[in-house]
Amino acid sequence: MSVEATYYDGRSSAARTVRLDADAQMLWLDAEGLQRRWPWDRVSVSERLGGAPRLLRFGDGTLCEVRDGAAFDRLLRRAGRREPWLARWYANRRALALTVAGAVLVLTAGYRWGLPWLAAWLARETPPALSAHISDYTLRTLDRTLLKPSRWSQDDQRALQARVAALRWPDHVPVRCRLVFRDGGKLGANAFALPDGRVVLLDGLLQVTAGDDQRLAVIAHELGHLRYRHGLRKLLQDSVIGLFAAWAIGDVSPLTAAAPAALVDARYSRAFELQADDYAAALLRINGLSPLLLAQVLQQLQRRKAEGGAGGGWLAQHPATAERVRRLGDR
Ligand SMILES: [Zn+2]
Repeated sequence: MSVEATYYDGRSSAARTVRLDADAQMLWLDAEGLQRRWPWDRVSVSERLGGAPRLLRFGDGTLCEVRDGAAFDRLLRRAGRREPWLARWYANRRALALTVAGAVLVLTAGYRWGLPWLAAWLARETPPALSAHISDYTLRTLDRTLLKPSRWSQDDQRALQARVAALRWPDHVPVRCRLVFRDGGKLGANAFALPDGRVVLLDGLLQVTAGDDQRLAVIAHELGHLRYRHGLRKLLQDSVIGLFAAWAIGDVSPLTAAAPAALVDARYSRAFELQADDYAAALLRINGLSPLLLAQVLQQLQRRKAEGGAGGGWLAQHPATAERVRRLGDR
């Protein structure tokens, strides 16, 4: 099963037809009046490139050209010679197509699942000082632009804060929480959580809700977002490019700059909202309150909007979908 090749001795331009054969140690070359044996470490074999002939260079400067690439491959295999994996992979069209398809799949999956996973991990690892910095910057920016001091009385503020301080926590895992009261003006009936545990309640929302139990239901939902670090995760996910820049230049300002918009207008994914609802339901229940309180708030906001009241705010970010109301009823 030898392979035909053309041999050039390097001294004359004459080519000779020879036969090649090989085993694990040697390659040998045969023609009338010409026999050579080369140990493999004195033979260099050109890589396979499409249908181009393979070139073999020997230790004495002579060379051989092999046209029948498939037969030569068989010879190499029989001799136990393996080509570099890259060359094998490159020569195999199907493997190449599969690799490209695989790369597309990995990138898609990376975007779909890897990015959220990375954001969740980063959110868990975010040092408290950075959370505080982001929260401070967000609140300062909002105070300068949109928020005014709350008109809610100090006593009422303290009473609600005391309810939060007395909460029993699901799975005995307390969530750091400090209430912050503001008049939100254009932000309307709204509430949102800052990554360091501050829950900002706007007068509009306090007015729409009927009693502290309902307010506690809204706070419980925001505590759910805090418990699972949804705010940081969304912020990190939204600003992944800025984040790499931040990491590269050691400057977190791109992350901070994105924070006010991302945290106030926190249109979380449906999965995050349902998780926060479930947490709120559990929190309300172990504190002797009904999860339906949250459904009531959602429906009140919905009704107010239907009657021509201000839309937007918490309702825009928390649509009272039938699914959510039904789930809360089931808890
Ligand atoms: Zn929410």
